Amino acid sequence: MTATISPMRILLAEDDPLLGDGLAAGLRQSGFAVDWLKDGESALAALQSERFDLLVLDLGLPKLSGMDVLKRLRARGSAMPVLILTARDATTDKIAGLDGGADDYLVKPVDLDELAARARALLRRSAGRAEPVLRHGGLMLDPAGHRVEIDGKAVELSAREFAVLHALLANAGRVMTRAQLEQSIYGWSEEPDSNALEVHVHHLRRKFGADFIRTLRGVGYTIPKA
Ligand code: CA
Repeated sequence: MTATISPMRILLAEDDPLLGDGLAAGLRQSGFAVDWLKDGESALAALQSERFDLLVLDLGLPKLSGMDVLKRLRARGSAMPVLILTARDATTDKIAGLDGGADDYLVKPVDLDELAARARALLRRSAGRAEPVLRHGGLMLDPAGHRVEIDGKAVELSAREFAVLHALLANAGRVMTRAQLEQSIYGWSEEPDSNALEVHVHHLRRKFGADFIRTLRGVGYTIPKA
């Protein structure tokens, strides 16, 4: 049985270091796991070897253009959602991109909130996977709306606390190993702090009760079935 790993994993292909840095940080802030690559060749290689839920693709990439990445991805039959980033006034790029199989586009400069909202919309539409709301006793977690409530009252969580809670709730009754949980909250390009997971779990216990998340020493964590 494979565990459901959340949150959504995004591959960002953008060669501009400042823009890429801002986009990656913004998407992580919104709760996505982000892997960032800076040229078309390595993006295509990553798409061949790893599983992503969404590709955010700059069209002007070195080594292999974004258009070529998109064409090869679609030529392989991949239906993965793709959001392209185009330069301002590049109307022909937009059209070529959409005709080439992109699902949506954003024009630079990119508004981070709009990017996150469009990413969520694409992810909801993809594969008809309307992510269900998760319930556990009086607790409700809405993955699409990024909302957590206890008995109808909103609870404030950081993006990573949300990701840990989401992964544990989606797998309630099963034990999640440290590695599985870390994989669900970080992309490969991020180096997790050695005790970051413990800190997130500690904060979640403060908010939901000491017994809410159980520790299985040396194995991982679990939320028992409600
Ligand atoms: Ca570029």
